[in-house]
Amino acid sequence: MTAQPNPETGAAVKAADRAHVFHSWSAQELIDPLAVAGAKGSYFWDYEGRRYLDFTSGLVFTNIGHQHPKVVAAIQEQAGRMATFAPAFAVEARSEAARLIAERTPGDLDKVFFTNGGADAVEHAVRMARLHTGRPKVLSAYRSYHGGTQQTINLTGDPRRWASDSGTAGVVHFWAPFLYRSRFYAQTQEQECARALEHLETTIAFEGPATIAAIVLETVPGTAGVMPPPPGYLAGVRELCDKHGIVFVLDEVMAGFGRTGTWFAADLYDVVPDLMTFAKGVNSGYVPLGGVAISGAIAETFARRPYPGGLTYSGHPLACAAAVATINVMAEEGIVENAARLGESVVGPALRGLAERHPSVGEVRGVGMFWALELVRNRETREPLIPYDATGEAAAPMAAFAAAAKAEGLWPFVNMNRTHVVPPCTVSEAELKEGLAALDSALSVADGFT
Ligand code: PMP
Repeated sequence: MTAQPNPETGAAVKAADRAHVFHSWSAQELIDPLAVAGAKGSYFWDYEGRRYLDFTSGLVFTNIGHQHPKVVAAIQEQAGRMATFAPAFAVEARSEAARLIAERTPGDLDKVFFTNGGADAVEHAVRMARLHTGRPKVLSAYRSYHGGTQQTINLTGDPRRWASDSGTAGVVHFWAPFLYRSRFYAQTQEQECARALEHLETTIAFEGPATIAAIVLETVPGTAGVMPPPPGYLAGVRELCDKHGIVFVLDEVMAGFGRTGTWFAADLYDVVPDLMTFAKGVNSGYVPLGGVAISGAIAETFARRPYPGGLTYSGHPLACAAAVATINVMAEEGIVENAARLGESVVGPALRGLAERHPSVGEVRGVGMFWALELVRNRETREPLIPYDATGEAAAPMAAFAAAAKAEGLWPFVNMNRTHVVPPCTVSEAELKEGLAALDSALSVADGFT
């Protein structure tokens, strides 16, 4: 199949998609997926020759951009040498990927269990925590996303959970800190932090500490709105976990591997969890891969007792070869530093400037290449531009915003009443400026709904 712009090919691709592909999270007849002809770096294009600057990194996974030649070559080389091999063997690409990951994860997270993606990583982290503690319950936050499988949708705290929640998985939700929409009547980050910790401590007390296996948190909650926690919050959760023998699981599926301008978001807060999940950025999504980084104490639990769980494709050689190449490229090309530097010097100031000029921007939050603009109808009341669970017509203002951005050549990330600014961590200053100018003009459309 050609990657050259060719409207006829595009029409055929689209027709087969519409006839046979069942899409995630979608009403099948109400969607209109773009037929993508090719991609390179921070851009992709369709079969009509229209090019888009990608401010989404796919689903926040192409941290090194599209078609990095060294990663493509590593996958090709691995395919030529050993395209696949079962997980029970020691395979060079797998051991090297685990070594490179363990070298970068904080503290003593020195063993890696590989999965095919993020949700199964969280599934296994929860299973490890339950077996390690012998306890049944798991606490997770509202305004979180942990995956689309049964256990992880139960853990997730956004409206997509509602239709699938089995309600029987021993999951208890609590409120994590989020000052802009504080559940604790807080006016400052210090208050929000202290009150959120007090709320969590009370939740633990009422649930019964000896029944709680794990607390699962995204280090920086992503899908639910890029909400960096206040300083001190994660350290406080760490203390509560230590006090009650609860396993602390940080989900870094979205925040990890450079996204926050550090290798892991945990580095920003100087906190070490007992288990840390990753996926996406570990190999920029070139081949499906995820995993759990495991502390010494939890690894010890399974030193002489089998871990009852596994996956046929755990640590797939193609995925691991892509991870080795990605991590090496990120280190050699200073990609994590690029995300930190341009996040602070370009994206942050520019987004705060947009917030001053556009009444539809309620709040700007973020770090590194991980930002969100929260769009509102009214800045005083903070009424969201569309309701929390809006679909169809009710979501029209965000759809109009997205269409305006696309008309300017920018592919925006849109979720509920927010647009997230999550370009590849390899993005250049010039590309950022081009995208931010398009965002500026699309926000004028959102302003029309205020
Ligand atoms: N955890 C987090 C924090 C995520 O952002 C996601 C995906 N957006 C997942 C888990 C699930 O990952 P996957 O879609 O690869 O199963």
